Amino acid sequence: MKVLKFGGSSVGSAETILKVIDIVIRESESTPCAVVLSAMQGTTDALIEAGRTAERGDDGYIERLANISENHLQTIQRLFPDGDSLPISDFVESTIKELENLCEGVRLVRELSAKTLDRILSFGEIVSSKMVAAKLAELGHDNEWKDSRLLIRTNSNHGFAVVDFDETNKRINDYLGGSKTSLHILPGFIASDSAGYTTTLGRGGSDYTAAIIAAAADAEMLEIWTDVSGMMTADPRFVKNVKEISHITYREAMELSHFGAKVIYPPTIQPVMAKGIPVLVKNTFSPDDAGTLIEATSSGTAGIIRGITSIDKITVLNLEGGGMVGIPGFSKRLFDALSRAEINVILITQSSSEHSICVAIEERSAEKAKRVVDEEFAYEISVGKIDPLKVESGFSILALVGDNMREHTGVSGKMFTTLGQNGINIHAIAQGSSERNISAIIASRDVRKAVNTLHEEFFSDGSKQINIYIAGVGTVGSRLLDQLARQHDHVLDDMRLNLRVVGLANSRRNLISEDGVDLATYIHELETADDATVEQFTDQIIYNNLRNSIFVDVTASPDVVAAYPKLLKKSVSIIACNKVAASARYDDYRSLKDLAREYGANFFFETNVGAGLPIIHTLGDLLRSGDRVRRIEAVLSGTLNFVFNNYDGSRPFADVVRQAQDEGYTEPDPRLDLTGTDVARKILILAREAGNVIEMDEVENRPFLPTSCLEGSVEDFYREMSVQEAHFRTLLDNAASRGEKLKYIASYDDGQARVGLESIGPDHNFANLSGKDNAVLFYTDRYSEQPLVIKGAGAGADVTAAGVFADMIRAARS
Ligand code: ADP
Ligand code: ASP
Ligand code: MG
Repeated sequence: MKVLKFGGSSVGSAETILKVIDIVIRESESTPCAVVLSAMQGTTDALIEAGRTAERGDDGYIERLANISENHLQTIQRLFPDGDSLPISDFVESTIKELENLCEGVRLVRELSAKTLDRILSFGEIVSSKMVAAKLAELGHDNEWKDSRLLIRTNSNHGFAVVDFDETNKRINDYLGGSKTSLHILPGFIASDSAGYTTTLGRGGSDYTAAIIAAAADAEMLEIWTDVSGMMTADPRFVKNVKEISHITYREAMELSHFGAKVIYPPTIQPVMAKGIPVLVKNTFSPDDAGTLIEATSSGTAGIIRGITSIDKITVLNLEGGGMVGIPGFSKRLFDALSRAEINVILITQSSSEHSICVAIEERSAEKAKRVVDEEFAYEISVGKIDPLKVESGFSILALVGDNMREHTGVSGKMFTTLGQNGINIHAIAQGSSERNISAIIASRDVRKAVNTLHEEFFSDGSKQINIYIAGVGTVGSRLLDQLARQHDHVLDDMRLNLRVVGLANSRRNLISEDGVDLATYIHELETADDATVEQFTDQIIYNNLRNSIFVDVTASPDVVAAYPKLLKKSVSIIACNKVAASARYDDYRSLKDLAREYGANFFFETNVGAGLPIIHTLGDLLRSGDRVRRIEAVLSGTLNFVFNNYDGSRPFADVVRQAQDEGYTEPDPRLDLTGTDVARKILILAREAGNVIEMDEVENRPFLPTSCLEGSVEDFYREMSVQEAHFRTLLDNAASRGEKLKYIASYDDGQARVGLESIGPDHNFANLSGKDNAVLFYTDRYSEQPLVIKGAGAGADVTAAGVFADMIRAARS
C-alpha cells in the first residue's frame, strides 16, 4: 500500500482537485492507496479567525463563516457541474450552521477553548476529503471515506495532541484489514481523544496523519504532494535560485523541517523513519518532476550542505549570574521550569565560563517564560546570585543542515565569514555534536539577507550577486550606467559577479527596484519616480538590507557624504567619486576609514585623484609592501593642463577655459580648478594616503588668478578673466622668454604639500605632458632615483566612470 497526502494548495480549487483526482486514479491502479487530504488552502486560517472574532464578542464571525461556506459551495458546484452535488452541499450547509451555533456560544461566553477550536477546525479537512471521495465515486472509482478521528487516538492536549500509537496502530490495522476497498480517503490533521472529542495534530499536521497511517500499515511508500517539486535548498519564497534536493536522509529532512522548512511538518519523519518507509515529496502541479526522495541513507551526490532554513519569531532567554559558576543544577532547574510551563526549547548555548545560559524559545511563550523562570529562581535573584531572566525578542534562527558536514572542516568558518562580511551580527551559535546542523541566532530583519548570502555561498555556481546603489546620474553617473549595461555579461562570465543596479538617485528623485533597475529605461523611470531626498535614498538602502550592497557616490554633494557613516555601519561598501569625504577634516576622513575596517566594508575613492588612473591603489600597494613615500610630484589637474597646453596667446585665456568647460573637463564652477582648490584636495588625499595627518589649510597654495576673478557668478568670472587677459599673457610671455612652459604642479615633500603654477624647462619630467593628461611621480625608498610614474588621461567622464567601475569590482571581489 501507498499513502498519498495532498496539501492545502493541492485542494485549493475545483481545478486543482481534478489534478489530485488524476494522480490518485493513476497511482491506485497499481497498488492500494490511502489518500490523506488537507483542508482547502486558507480554510484553517479562516476558521481560526472566525472563532477568534466570536471570542472578541464580535458577530463578524457570521460573515467569515458565510465566506468559508460560499467558497466550498462554489468549489463543489464546479467540481460537480452535472448537479450531483446535493448530499455534500447539504453537508457543508448543515455543518456551517453547527459552527455558527458553536461560535455564537463562544461569543456569549467570550472564551474560545482549544477544545472548541479543534472542533471548529475539523470542518476543513472533513469537507475537502469528502469532496475528493465523492468526485472519485462519481468517476466510477470505488473508494471508502473514513473519518480519521475514529482511527487516530490522542491525548487531550487540544491543538497539539500527542498520539497514542498502540491504540492508533491497532485501529488503523483493524480498519484496513476489515475494509473491502483498496482506495481509502481520509481527512488529515484531525484525531480524537479517549472521550471521543476532536483533537488536532498541530498546524500542518496532515503530513503527520499520513505518516502515522503509512507506518501503521507498513506502507511501501509515503508520498507528500504539495505545491513545490520537492524539498529545496532553501525556502523558495526567500531565495530565487533554490535547487531541488533529489535525495536526502531522514535525519537531514528532520533537521530541515524542525528548523523551518515548512514543506514537511516536523513530526512526520519519525514514524516512517522507524519503519524505514521511503518518503517522496512531489508537486501536484508538475507531477512529472522527480521530487525529493527521503530515505535512511542518501544516494545523491550532494555537496556538504543539504539545505538552509530559518525560523522566525524567536525569543532569546539569558540566565546570567556569578552565582551559577561551577554549581550544578541551575540548567536543570531552568529547563524543568520551562518544561512544566510546556515551553518548547529550540536551541541552547552555554559558554564554558558557565556564567550564562542562553535558550531560544518561540516568541509567543516569552512572557510565560519570564514569569516561571523568575519564580523558580526568586531566592537566588533576591540574594543577587543571579540576575532576573533577560528576555529579548525579534530574533530568528538560521540553520545549515547536512550529514556531510561531519567530514568537512571550514563550514562554520565560511558561514560566519559570509555573515560577517554582510554586517550580520550573530547573537548565539549552536552546533549539535552530530554536526548535522549549525544554527545561529540573528536579528529577524537580517534573515532574508542571511539566507540569500549563505545560499549563494554554498549552492550557487560560484557567482555572487552584487547590489549597487548609485547616487548621481550626471555625466559620470550615466557613463557608469552605460558601462554597467555593456559589461554585465562579461563580468558575470569572467568574474562570476552578477552586478545589479538596485537603486538610483539624483538630487530630487529616487528609483529603487530590488529586482534590478532596467538600464535601458532608467532615465525615464527616474524622471517619473516620486520626489525623494538623498537621505531617504540611503535610509532605504539600510532598510532593504540586501546582501553585498555597494553605494556609489558620483555626486559632489556634502549631503551625500553625511550618509557614509550609517551605510558603513551596515557593512555597505562605499565607492566615492565625490572628493568631499577624503578631503574633509582629517578626523572625519580617518573615522570613515576606521568604520569601513570595523564593519568589514570597503571605502574606495580611486577616482578622487587622476580620474581612472590607478594612483591611490598603487600608493596603497607600495605602503602595504613596506615601502615609504618620500616625495610626490604631480600634475593632477587635467583641466589646468588642458588650459595651459592650449593657451599660446593666439586666443584669450577665457576662451580656452570656456573650451575646457564645454568639453567636460572642469568642475561646474571652473574656479574650483583654476584656484588650485581641486588640485590641493588631490595632493591632500595623496599625502593622507601616504600616511600623513594633514588638513586642507596646511596645503600651501600659490594662486595665479587675480582676486577680482573670484567674485560673483561663473559668468562674472568669465567676464573678469577677459578683463584680466593681460595678466595671463604676462605669465605666458615670462615663461616663454626663458624657453619654458607653464604647468600647474602639486608636490608633497617631507610632510609639506604645495600647489601652484610653475614654469618648467624642456628637460622637466612634466614638459611633454599633453592635453588633459595627469602624471604622478612617487619617490620612495624603493624608487629613490627613478620615480614610479603613473601617467595618462586624468579627466573625462568615460575614464572616471571606468575608475569607479574598477573600484566596484575590487569591492565586490574582496
Ligand atoms: P501544503 O499545503 O502542501 O502542506 P505547505 O505550504 O505546508 O504545503 O508547504 C509547502 C511550502 O513550503 C512551499 O510552497 C514553500 O513555500 C515552503 N517551503 C519552505 N521551505 C522550503 C524548502 N526548504 N523546500 C521546499 N519548500 C519550502
Ligand atoms: N489544515 C491544517 C493547517 O492548515 C493542516 C494541514 O494543512 O496540514 O494547518
Ligand atoms: Mg504542509
